[in-house]
Amino acid sequence: MKKIIVVGGGAAGMMAAITAAENGCEVVLFEKNDRLGKKLFITGKGRCNLTNAGDADRFFQSVTTNSKFMYSSFYTFDNQMTIDFFEKLGLKTKVERGDRVFPVSDHSSDVIGVLKTKLNRNQEIIVELQTEVQKLIIEDQVVKGVQIKTAHGKKDVYGDAVVITTGGISYPLTGSTGDGYRFAESAGHTIKELLPSLVPFELKDEFCKELMGLSLKNVELVIKCGKKCLFEEQGELLFTHFGISGPLVIKASAYLHKYLDKDLSMYIDLKPAMTEEMLDDRILRDFSKYANKDFHNSLGDLLPVKLIDVVIKRSGIDPYKKVNSITKEERKNLVTVLKQFTLSFRGLRGFEEAIITKGGVNVKEVVPSTMQSKLVDHLYFAGEVLDVDALTGGFNLQIAWSTGWAAGKAAAEKIQES
Ligand code: FAD
Repeated sequence: MKKIIVVGGGAAGMMAAITAAENGCEVVLFEKNDRLGKKLFITGKGRCNLTNAGDADRFFQSVTTNSKFMYSSFYTFDNQMTIDFFEKLGLKTKVERGDRVFPVSDHSSDVIGVLKTKLNRNQEIIVELQTEVQKLIIEDQVVKGVQIKTAHGKKDVYGDAVVITTGGISYPLTGSTGDGYRFAESAGHTIKELLPSLVPFELKDEFCKELMGLSLKNVELVIKCGKKCLFEEQGELLFTHFGISGPLVIKASAYLHKYLDKDLSMYIDLKPAMTEEMLDDRILRDFSKYANKDFHNSLGDLLPVKLIDVVIKRSGIDPYKKVNSITKEERKNLVTVLKQFTLSFRGLRGFEEAIITKGGVNVKEVVPSTMQSKLVDHLYFAGEVLDVDALTGGFNLQIAWSTGWAAGKAAAEKIQES
């Protein structure tokens, strides 16, 4: 029986191993951790948003890098097939807000559990934990196997095909430390620049520490590079000791990579549901209610307590000025501060906090329908190691399932032909 080596027991690796075995091959899955799916375990805050139930257009719009590369593998193993696959393994799923699909149990461990059961039941699959692959063995542009390292030392293991599913370099404590990029380079592949994505922002603003822990719902984040608007969306944002985070910021980070070496301007519209005139009317109403109070005691109805001091400082209005003596000009300034609460961007946070790695194995050097290397025969890539990434919502795991499925199947078919 022909043998396939799968390197990395995450989402893509487990899927590739299952499909390769179902297509008639013996499989050895090497995972350097002492258990499978360590990153999968922390996905979706421990609930695992395993895919998205939206239509194909939604999937392709959400893939922010190299979406066209995903056409073939997604259409052959799409989100519905993913849901059916897991349901067939005994995992009940549910669809939540934004078409996000989760296990009914809300436990990512159940997703890993059904995959593990499937791997263990198949006699043709051997899972080798605590086994780190150190390099590829390549002869005459054909991959022959891998060198592994275990507690017992180093050893060469030969196989008829090798599938690299080592993930990216984000959250490295989960085992994704970028080894696959090194393997790909040793095979002659180019690696597109690696950058943290779906990640919080660091700000230069001093006020971050004061606002730490403040969560703002229904605000708008606007990011521009010169006149070009890079991001403009409403949602939820959170101040941290270093800057800002939360769903809105995480999403915005996916659109900034090309502009990181340029001057970015950004602001929060704290009251996006109101035009400047409406907001001015609203402030006037509050001012007449608190006419005899000091200015700093007049904003409690409009803003969360933590934000009041910062807004007052920025408005330039004396906090002890009586509200009834605030001028129209000063009120106008206040409206501008609220509608354009500017932020001073320092940069993105690092890989330790990034949900995904942007960049990776250049997809121009990989066949999209099979995931096979165009440079070295019998070598395949799947999952985050590839230069493909998407927004949050279950799309990144869908990339892992679709490409893992394609690689496992294609590798099995190819080596049985030869
Ligand atoms: P990984 O899951 O990273 O697996 C790679 C595996 O390879 C690891 O187990 C690693 O130990 C192993 N490995 C690496 N090098 C070697 C080696 N040399 N030898 C042997 N083994 C090796 N996506 C979603 O769609 N939905 C979510 O809810 C979601 N939540 C997330 C939350 C967090 C906090 C993070 C960090 C990511 C989240 N993602 C989510 C993204 C998603 O987890 C990844 O896109 C996905 O896990 C990538 O799968 P993969 O199999 O390619 O890589």
